[in-house]
Amino acid sequence: MQHFPIFVALSGRRVVLSGGGDAALAKLRLLLKTNAHLTVFATDPAPEIADWATAGRLDLQRRAMQSGDAIGAVLFYAADEDAVADARTSAIARAEGALINIVDNLEDSQFITPAIVDRDPVTVAIGTEGAAPVLARAIKADLEARLPVGLGTLARIGKAFRKVADALPMGRKRRDFWADYYFRDGPRALDQGEDAVAETLDRLLDRHLTIEARPGHVAFVGAGPGDPELLTLKARRALDEADVVIHDRLISPEILELARREAVLVDAGKEGFGPSMSQDEINALIVRHARTGAQVVRLKGGDATIFGRLDEEIDACAEADVTWHIVPGITAASAAVASIGQSLTRRDRNASVRFLTGHDMKGFADHDWKTLARSGEVAAIYMGKKAARFIQGRLIMHGADPATPVTVIENASRADQRVIASTLASLPADLTAAGLSGPALTLYGLAPRAAMATLSEIKQQEFA
Ligand code: SAH
Repeated sequence: MQHFPIFVALSGRRVVLSGGGDAALAKLRLLLKTNAHLTVFATDPAPEIADWATAGRLDLQRRAMQSGDAIGAVLFYAADEDAVADARTSAIARAEGALINIVDNLEDSQFITPAIVDRDPVTVAIGTEGAAPVLARAIKADLEARLPVGLGTLARIGKAFRKVADALPMGRKRRDFWADYYFRDGPRALDQGEDAVAETLDRLLDRHLTIEARPGHVAFVGAGPGDPELLTLKARRALDEADVVIHDRLISPEILELARREAVLVDAGKEGFGPSMSQDEINALIVRHARTGAQVVRLKGGDATIFGRLDEEIDACAEADVTWHIVPGITAASAAVASIGQSLTRRDRNASVRFLTGHDMKGFADHDWKTLARSGEVAAIYMGKKAARFIQGRLIMHGADPATPVTVIENASRADQRVIASTLASLPADLTAAGLSGPALTLYGLAPRAAMATLSEIKQQEFA
């Protein structure tokens, strides 16, 4: 980060600007939102600037800036749109102790003005350090559309109410109150005017002071295969509201980043062969947290209902009278098959698809090999790396064609995704040669679709 974002208190402080054209106008429009003392130096000011001066909103000096003109200024804007003039005025201001910004000259500026979304007192500042103004504008447009215009009013009225709301105990109760205000009752009341909002706050506080604390609850949330963009909106919301997140080792750090900042993160890593918690310990952990009144997110890779030992955890909740619900996620098979441009089912090829596990609690898992060995069958094999030779042996023994395509996708949907196209005959050897270390899904009966553009090719095309 080359530039550190801060919000500067400008009320009653001096801000000087040199320039009277378009660049000066753009900056002044922003600066006029503050209560700063504005002084503008311009020999030929735009009519708007002259009007603002007449209205007493700024002090206009119709001359070139001179030594001594920036004394006491906190900020200075060089907006003459002329490199020589800007160098001269900014040298004066810099010598007189102001922080300087030269319009369209990032290198010689000491600070830059971000793109701003204004819902005063809520202000969003967007900066790209000059790298991508287009991007900053796009983000701004996106936020403008997303933040209700009344948000500023709600925040202003809410701010005045903060002390009163301190009657609620800190933590969950207070958060629930404010969440109801900003996202439910407040916006509704806003349509009827500011008085209605103030009344709503009183009523809401009464309600929150008298209601019982929300009891603990467990959301079993599928986190998808790894790419944070493959989280559902419901999963994101659950992470946003969680007090405790109990997660598998498969969950990527980018996804954990999305949990509420105050949330307690617990790694209940059961994957791989390192030290791991037993299922009983995990069940007990979930129940223990929920019983303290916490909103618990039990975050599982992919979809929680697929090879996720979900039922044991649900049973533990039910036994302890803890309420729960499931948020579905995108399973590894969906991400894997998308990465090779194929369908899991296809008319005239396979009318069903199986989700298999390579091994279960007893060791390599047994399946209906005879049916699977038939031509056209497709299966998504989870946890299949170690079982590759076993699966190959069983299928060939039951008559499967050794040339049947098999594709293994490691780290599906993640930046380090790898696709190993193989056949039943060469699967174990190809897997050994590939030396996989991440989670891998085996798609039996499917080969990558030919001529499919890879992600890096698409990127290249985009930037060409
Ligand atoms: N509930 C999960 C599966 C848990 S079992 C889901 O719906 O995806 C764990 C197995 O899932 C791993 O051994 C691997 O076979 C598969 N898996 C999970 N994430 C994966 C990923 N990103 N890429 C490939 N396979 C993955």
